Amino acid sequence: MEQMRPSTIREILKVTAQPEVISFAGGLPAPELFPVAEVRAAADEVLVQHGSRALQYSQSEGYPGLREWIAAEVGRRGIKAAMDDVLVTNGSQQVLDLAGKLFLNPGDVVLTENPTYLAAIQAFQTFEARFVPVPTDEHGLIPEALPALIKQHRPKFLYTIPNFQNPTGITLTAARREALARIAAEHKLLVLEDDPYGKLRYHGADIPPIKHWDTAGQVLYASTFSKTIAPGLRTGWVVAPPEIFSRLLILKQASDLHTSSFDQLVAYTYLTKFDQTAHLEKIRRAYGERYEVLDGALRAAMPAGFSWTKPEGGMFLWITGPANLDALELLQRAIAKKVAFVPGRDFFPADAGKNYLRLNYSNSTPERIREGVSRLAALCRG
Ligand code: PMP
Repeated sequence: MEQMRPSTIREILKVTAQPEVISFAGGLPAPELFPVAEVRAAADEVLVQHGSRALQYSQSEGYPGLREWIAAEVGRRGIKAAMDDVLVTNGSQQVLDLAGKLFLNPGDVVLTENPTYLAAIQAFQTFEARFVPVPTDEHGLIPEALPALIKQHRPKFLYTIPNFQNPTGITLTAARREALARIAAEHKLLVLEDDPYGKLRYHGADIPPIKHWDTAGQVLYASTFSKTIAPGLRTGWVVAPPEIFSRLLILKQASDLHTSSFDQLVAYTYLTKFDQTAHLEKIRRAYGERYEVLDGALRAAMPAGFSWTKPEGGMFLWITGPANLDALELLQRAIAKKVAFVPGRDFFPADAGKNYLRLNYSNSTPERIREGVSRLAALCRG
């Protein structure tokens, strides 16, 4: 516990619960776009069709129908997988915890992008991991930098978010994914590919996951229904090679026996009875529009010295401020003006990044985004 920091986001979320605060802070999907009526109908059908079975304990691997659906879905994404390769988890967050349990002893090294997902840092810190950043540019991590890092640090695994990364919104190019898979095979580097946002692309063409190029069984692929149905279902998954799968399964049993039988059946029924493609189109359109509004408002109002990423999907945009900017101090002033964001510092495993801001655009309407940027930009000009 001594190494762990409380998450600023959790603290900020207490403030942003007030409706008058315009929040670019949490990574929340748009609640007005949740398929509430469909999930309600699915829940009803589950109880009619499955009755008490939906409320009983169930297999640790997950509901077979759902595992089959997921195997087919990852197939559409470019990954060859059978139902037996799929472990259903409590969101992809649980995959990070289980991977930490399986691979990390105190002092072991995890390679990460820098910055990286805050709750991955927390998950791996629980096991007293050490973090070594992989050099990155606007196209994601640079695979050619890996062999030297592997030699020097003997990492247990590389953790990466190739699509619309949290927090930067950056996407790893296809050529780099292929190179990464090749280097992983050559150097026996295990890769934990975390892909919660891949289905939320609103510009450009989809790129296959790193696992698509993984012929050596070095890549674990994690994803989730949190952004495509609803995060409250806490249903995600990992596709893992058999010898890793069997160990993750034992750890999953020890952690929580299994993911909620009811939630899995609701997710499965929703996915098989309703038009998920239409729903995805709807969220993509809304988030794409919100991104354009945010980018346009920033361009119109932010002072010189601030620049930001141009994500092609996902939920986040990353602002780099002038070197002397203290984003934590800016946040205090922003909260007084009823606008919130996450200071970038929390996304760096080591102490760094005082002058960065992460903005989420999925959780506010276009009107509120415009108003929020106007408040924020006034403070930055201030
Ligand atoms: N990985 C990344 C990169 C995320 O941004 C999130 C959600 N914020 C998660 C994992 C966890 O998602 P869940 O557990 O809801 O699937």
